[in-house]
Amino acid sequence: MKVVSFDLDDTLADKNFDDALWHREIPKLYAAKRGLPFEEALAFCEAAYDAESDKSIHWYDINYWLGEFGLVGEKQKLIAELRPLVRLFPDALPCLARLEAAGCRLAIVSNATREFMAFKLEADGLGSHFGDVFSMTSDFKIVKKDAAAFLGICGRLNAQPSQVWHVGDHYKFDYEVPRSVGINAFYLDRKKEKKGEFVVHDLNEFADRVLGC
Ligand SMILES: [Mg+2]
Repeated sequence: MKVVSFDLDDTLADKNFDDALWHREIPKLYAAKRGLPFEEALAFCEAAYDAESDKSIHWYDINYWLGEFGLVGEKQKLIAELRPLVRLFPDALPCLARLEAAGCRLAIVSNATREFMAFKLEADGLGSHFGDVFSMTSDFKIVKKDAAAFLGICGRLNAQPSQVWHVGDHYKFDYEVPRSVGINAFYLDRKKEKKGEFVVHDLNEFADRVLGC
């Protein structure tokens, strides 16, 4: 049996929700709290995100940022308002349906926290397609997908790396790293900038490759 693993952000779901959360709604709340113009609050928040950097586990954690900005009490309302903005790429569900129909087992491997993944997986019933969901930050306490984590995931899936397919939009962490441990990894290049044996430009093309069409 083939196991097919997907990155989540910018692979299955686009950046609509994250852009609205980090670069619009959180700065808006911070502006209101501090009595600042929006542009000033936006610059402050973005400088704080950059200073922490995506190498830090805090960077991925909404609870950390709401704490830093003094906005913890706003969380439930914020998430409820933004939830409808989670948006899947049009090729996501058709790709999953094709792979399921062919008997593949589907999984997600993401850097997002479990809390974030939980409501992204509610969009259009996305979560119902996946038997296994792995969060690097919540489950492995690391911020990037590394070789050991991919091997650990193969173990938890009871699969050899050669039985696992993976696709995602990060050249190193979704393609080079999993391929280095023998996983059939593909780089998803939606902008069509790269060519190569293991580059796909949309998820239908990825499904073709998995199914050997
Ligand atoms: Mg991604």
